[in-house]
This record gives sequence, C-alpha cells and structure tokens, in this order.
Amino acid sequence: MREPAEIECWLTDMDGVLVREDHEIPGAGDLIQRWVDTSRRFLVLTNNSIFTQRDLAARLVATGLTIPEENIWTSALATARFLADQHPGARLFVIGEAGLTTALHEAGFILTDSSPDYVVLGETRNYSFEAITKAIRFIESGARFICTNPDATGPSPQGPLPATGSVAALIKAATGGREPYVVGKPNPMMFRSALNRIEAHSETTAMIGDRMDTDMVAGIEAGLLTVLVLSGITRREDIDLYPYRPNIVLDSVNDLLPLLSTP
Ligand SMILES: [Mg+2]
Repeated sequence: MREPAEIECWLTDMDGVLVREDHEIPGAGDLIQRWVDTSRRFLVLTNNSIFTQRDLAARLVATGLTIPEENIWTSALATARFLADQHPGARLFVIGEAGLTTALHEAGFILTDSSPDYVVLGETRNYSFEAITKAIRFIESGARFICTNPDATGPSPQGPLPATGSVAALIKAATGGREPYVVGKPNPMMFRSALNRIEAHSETTAMIGDRMDTDMVAGIEAGLLTVLVLSGITRREDIDLYPYRPNIVLDSVNDLLPLLSTP
C-alpha cells in the first residue's frame, strides 16, 4: 500500500473533515500548514455549488481556517470545467447562485433563457416556480440536463434543507423521467477535474473524507489512496455495511499528522 508520507497531492472534503458546524475540527489548521510547509499541492472539495471560492475562503476564515481561494474546488467549478470540455461557448439556462453563475461566466458561457443547449441546475435558496417551469419546458424541447451535485438535502442548524438533488427529482418527474448528468461527488469526474487543476496523478494523490458513499467510493474509483475520518457522518461500525473499504481509517485529521513527512 502507498504510505501517506509518499503522497504528493491531497484532496480533502470540507464538512466533517476540516470543519463541523462552523468550527474547525482540531488538527485541520495544522494539516493545511503541514501541506504548505512540505510543498504538497492540495484542494479542498465541496459538493455545494452555492458559494464562490472567495465566499468559501471567507467562511473558512470565520471558523479559524486560512485556505487560499485557489485551493478550493467546488461542484460548480467542476461543472464549468466539464461543460467547457464538452461544449465550449454553449448557451445555458442556469438555476443557481453566484458560485455557479460566476464559474460558468468565467468559463466563457452565455447564460440565457432563450433556446439554451443545456439546463444547469445548482444549489439555490431561492427556487422559483417560474424558473423551474422554464427548465422543464427547455428540457422537453431538447435542452440537455446537467446538475452540479446529487445531494437531496443540506445541513442547517434548524434541520435539513432541500438541496439540488430534490429539485432535480422534481424536474425529472415533470419531464417524464429525464435524468440529469450529475457532476459532483460521487461522480469521479469531480476528482478528475480536481486532479487536472493541480496537475496531480492518481497514484501519488490521496483523498480524505467522512462519507463512505461519496468521498470514499469516488476516491477508490479514481484510483486514489483513501483516508476515512470518523469526525463526520460515518461511525466505525458503519464501515462494514459497504462493499468497499478505505485504505486508512482515522478518528480525525489530527491522527494523520504523525503519518506525514515533516519539513
Ligand atoms: Mg463531508
């Protein structure tokens, strides 16, 4: 097995790994600093497509973590990358927030509500009946359906919030079962675009995550060294319920530090 000390590039999930309920998980700041001190390339991954890299960097600073915005990779950026490869300059009808519209604008796309090539659905807190109706009609008339992430709900202090996957299910039901192509985790596409972004190779890259059904399975499928941390959603007794296993299981990123090389 590859050893963590030999790993050159790191991908890590954010919620449940580095932060939890707006607080830094102990060891997260030291881990980022170690990567910087030992010249390791890294990206912090999130399936949430609401925020821009700058918004997320600012939110992380509020938790006590300093992560440069260029070290953040969102499902919105991965979606823009995917579409830029598939159909440069395509016309897009977008339901989403600044995280998605900024990523798509910067990748050179035209955002329109007249005969789009694609309907692109991302996370938003302002779902409008009118926008969803337009999306359904565009898909019915031939627009291709892309979704930033599959998550049905997102967390909030008051309880679950409906997320992109739930609205995608609504649109699917209203279009006679048209399935979106979903770019975010667990699609390894999200990891492949992240690897390209930092010029990483799968053999010398690791993925840290707290979810078996997204972070770990996508990491395994992308050929990465996989590190599960138990500081988020997964309990140790849950691991055996899945037909795949991560390479390394740790209580938190704090336990990863002693396994890494020192400056
Ligand atoms: Mg997580």
